[in-house]
Amino acid sequence: MSEKAKALILQGPNHLTLEEFPLPEISDDDALIQVYACGLCGTDHEQFSGALPIGGPTIPGHETVGRIIKIGDAAKERFKVDLNDIVAVEVFQSCRNCINCNSGDYRHCVNHGLFDMYGFIPINKPPSLWGGYSTHLYISKDAMLIKIPDSLDPRLATLFNPLGAGIRWAVEVPNTKAGDVVSILGPGIRGISGVVAAKNSGAEFVMVTGFGPRDKGRLEFAKQFGADLVVDTQIQDPVKELKSKTGRLSDVVVDVTAKSTAAFGQAVNLCSEGGTVVIAGTKGAYGAENLSIDSIIYKEIKILGALGVDINSYSKAIEILNSNQFPFKELSRLEIGLDEAQNLLSELSCGRQDALHCLINPFK
Ligand SMILES: [Zn+2]
Ligand SMILES: [Zn+2]
Repeated sequence: MSEKAKALILQGPNHLTLEEFPLPEISDDDALIQVYACGLCGTDHEQFSGALPIGGPTIPGHETVGRIIKIGDAAKERFKVDLNDIVAVEVFQSCRNCINCNSGDYRHCVNHGLFDMYGFIPINKPPSLWGGYSTHLYISKDAMLIKIPDSLDPRLATLFNPLGAGIRWAVEVPNTKAGDVVSILGPGIRGISGVVAAKNSGAEFVMVTGFGPRDKGRLEFAKQFGADLVVDTQIQDPVKELKSKTGRLSDVVVDVTAKSTAAFGQAVNLCSEGGTVVIAGTKGAYGAENLSIDSIIYKEIKILGALGVDINSYSKAIEILNSNQFPFKELSRLEIGLDEAQNLLSELSCGRQDALHCLINPFK
């Protein structure tokens, strides 16, 4: 094991530097992991490009899986893990003591919250190692860990985040039931994870939509993961296609598209009377094109926002990944080292990279 951690620091928009840090002292309450892999998502390239501002130089990376190489006794007890265990690290921290943490809503912890998440904490906060683009990650007393079974490849395990999102957005938030018709807008990794989650919860029919030639391969993947129907909305009308196959509209519609102005309107059109629309893909400053507000009223649609994932969904994601029921190994995957991250993030931020699952292996 090296004496020092090697990590990428995001200094400002589009500017990463590679630096070394001393490994932190670990006390009774905290731990240190050696990082196996850190998954990348849309948030990574938004942070990289500056669309999502940072509060000073920061080690990014919030979908981290690693092995515990140092841990205090109290930390073992609190996290229910041991030395050498492989763990995924929850993005949010929880003080386990405030009113929100006590009610289970730890993501709104009054002592942590949105600006104190792994991958977003500036390096000026000791001991600096708060992000997954690094050989080592510091596990604070308020961190939350999910144990990874030895039988699961740690690189695949980084899918705990997107698959957890699919479970929360396509099943937990809308309360998807056996027999439901589910439509998922957006065939990226979170859309495909939504298919897995919906099918796994007994949904009878799942449609996935994409837009144009770029999504063609992704829609094919969606079929391999159980989608009953895939639709290219550039050339097909999703409402017509869904009705021709099922004779009805969707009980649940999940919009995971980023910055697509047409998706919300489509989601409302695809939703049945009394159905639920979950909006999980952020649109920035963009509006909602062709949105029929009256349809929301006439059909009494429930519109629910979903922000991120929670630890229950992560645990279910690890169970599904470990079950080998779905072909996650076959996903188009790009695994890079720290030195290639600048390039990959530039490609991702301008949509020039098509791999569905990108990850950084800091020891590659
Ligand atoms: Zn992410
Ligand atoms: Zn709290």
